[in-house]
Amino acid sequence: MKNLILLLLLSVSISSCAQKNAQNPYGLTIINDYKAYKADYKTHPNNELIEIKKAIPSIVLDIRYATKNNFMQQVMYKQARAFARKPVVEHLKKIQAILNRQGYGLKIFDAYRPYAITVAFYQKASDKNFVANPAKGSKHNRGCAVDLTIIDLKTGKDVPMPTPYDSFAPEAAPHFENLPAAIIKNRDFLIATMQANGFKVIYNEWWHFDFDGWQDYDLMDIPFEKL
Ligand SMILES: [Zn+2]
Repeated sequence: MKNLILLLLLSVSISSCAQKNAQNPYGLTIINDYKAYKADYKTHPNNELIEIKKAIPSIVLDIRYATKNNFMQQVMYKQARAFARKPVVEHLKKIQAILNRQGYGLKIFDAYRPYAITVAFYQKASDKNFVANPAKGSKHNRGCAVDLTIIDLKTGKDVPMPTPYDSFAPEAAPHFENLPAAIIKNRDFLIATMQANGFKVIYNEWWHFDFDGWQDYDLMDIPFEKL
């Protein structure tokens, strides 16, 4: 009898373990249940994914993954929307105000990215250095990373930067020096403004900024349509 109970307990623990692995092959905890997410942010308001354009109406969106104009040359998002966790959006709002006073504004290429999209990027990308490994997930999956540039408010045009968005060229690195002085000045102005206000640039992409404190937020896989 004792052996039978042990056997039962063992089989239950094995099956629950197998279930967990089936959910994510890397054993990551990923929030993919909308009701659970909603219940969570009712008690932890900072966990809410806020629609950036609603919180900051003057911000310009150019959501490349909702078009074919991206390194995948495929439409990856069904909707051209951008979300980030509440404190991330609050910091972006402050940055937008700082930039506006100097004649500039933010343009967002990408923000929260559902985990399933990160998996698809990794499977298809030619240069794995530029895409997040699904074994770890991306800070975009946590609603804590933003890809952006700045525009000149007078012309509405992008301020010239070292490379286009999502370029895999070495010039995309934030410390690449062999560039015209005016380009370096623009890039360093963007990075300095972001880094003075709660974000850090990633080592190989001048446009990608991680929110300080991203460690406090779970990976998520809820599509835009549900948000
Ligand atoms: Zn990014």
